[in-house]
Amino acid sequence: EKLGLNQIRQMFRDFYVSKDHYAAKSASLIPQNDKSLLIINSGMAPLKPYFAGIETPPAKRMTTCQKCIRTGDIDNVGITARHGTFFEMLGNFSFGDYFKEESLRWGWEFITQCLKMPEKKIWATVYYDDDEAVEIWKKIGVPEERIVRLGKEDNFWEIGLGPCGPCSEIYFDRGPEYGCGKPDCKPGCDCDRYLEFWNHVFTQFSKEEDGSYTPLEHPNIDTGMGLERMACIMQGVDSIFDVDTIRHILDGVVAMSGVKYEDGAAKTDVSIRIITDHLRSMVFMIADGIIPSNEGRGYVLRRLIRRAARHGRILGIDGKFLVALSNKVIEVSADAYPELEEKKEYIQKIISVEEEKFAATIDQGTSIIHEYVDELKKDGKTVLAGEKVFKLYDTYGFPLELTEEILQEEGCSADVDGFNDNMQKQKEMARAGRKSADEEGWKNAATAVDVPETLFTGYDHLDDEGEVLA
Ligand code: ATP
Ligand code: MG
Ligand code: MG
Ligand code: MG
Repeated sequence: EKLGLNQIRQMFRDFYVSKDHYAAKSASLIPQNDKSLLIINSGMAPLKPYFAGIETPPAKRMTTCQKCIRTGDIDNVGITARHGTFFEMLGNFSFGDYFKEESLRWGWEFITQCLKMPEKKIWATVYYDDDEAVEIWKKIGVPEERIVRLGKEDNFWEIGLGPCGPCSEIYFDRGPEYGCGKPDCKPGCDCDRYLEFWNHVFTQFSKEEDGSYTPLEHPNIDTGMGLERMACIMQGVDSIFDVDTIRHILDGVVAMSGVKYEDGAAKTDVSIRIITDHLRSMVFMIADGIIPSNEGRGYVLRRLIRRAARHGRILGIDGKFLVALSNKVIEVSADAYPELEEKKEYIQKIISVEEEKFAATIDQGTSIIHEYVDELKKDGKTVLAGEKVFKLYDTYGFPLELTEEILQEEGCSADVDGFNDNMQKQKEMARAGRKSADEEGWKNAATAVDVPETLFTGYDHLDDEGEVLA
């Protein structure tokens, strides 16, 4: 009998409660008193005031399962086996209480004793000069050949100045059939063989203005494990979209569209997974009080809803369909998140209104394309100029793929290179600070959500993205 995603969430909580952790509810996706972040993207994000010592935590040891959104991962969704824009992050936290040894030992105990993960398939990465972490892993019983030392980019966590430190990540070896076959393939490789599922961050330094690192008197622990990834491993499935609760939503998309899911890289499979993921994001975001708009979080939500609607159209679904499918999300998640059931009517109203607005955009865009096509035909041409394709995109919010699709039906095509040139020009203008409010909202949104990740590599890269924080 395979463990369900909802069971794994509960087991994690019970385990850390048995280690004297205080179990807190997931915080809202909307950050509180934190201007550096647009949407909560990790378990530690809402706990920052405790780590910074600004507020006193309810206990020195805590555990949570946090709802997260990472729009920075949007291009991976449906393509990789392991990314969603929405996911849940399980975590254990120590505010100046226990440190490295306990965190790794308990982590190991949880995955090998409670979840009974085969030890031989588990790998650990550490920061290259963190000998302490290497020694702990060896004592725990991980052989040296499965401990990989990686550099700052992968295994050191810091955001500008202040608390920071090395981390150790735990990977699962899915087997050579998922691998790239290269002789040096190991955790950190781009391929799908080694699946990262748990990050243990050891906040033990403070980065000073002069670039030096001073040891903290009371180091902290912050860990994050992707619940969907863990369920993927425990259920022995290929991707997070095959995990029980998510597959339930995906099956709904498949039934609604009548398109077969091939479990592969078919273009329609990607659309099916994108809709599945975005449904989860939109339902949770709306439940937390975000509404579609043209800026900030609202714009993120609007883009997710419209992107899902567009992929529905690619699958041949006519008319509104997201409201009906949002039921699937609520069905599998409401036990853990009762707010979904409580706010069901409201959530569905918001989705419905946005779907209608998008439909209106589609209608307007379609009639403009047909005018363009008439002109083309009059002139004996078949290729629509890049400038016009771009105008449809930029002024009428009409996606390129749809323009292409409709043109194709008329025996015409789009000048995609010309479209890209125009897009490029607009991006350059945006860089010069003359972007339309609409695009700007999304740009800021995407960047702000990415702040901790982008700044991961540290100080040298602050210039560009750093501005967004200021
Ligand atoms: P990856 O390298 O796979 O993008 P990450 O290093 O960006 O992951 P962390 O910031 O270390 O991820 O977050 C901690 C954990 O959260 C990861 O080990 C993973 O289990 C989970 N996680 C991160 N991003 C996603 C996502 N987009 N979808 C699902 N789970 C995620
Ligand atoms: Mg990532
Ligand atoms: Mg990673
Ligand atoms: Mg990581």
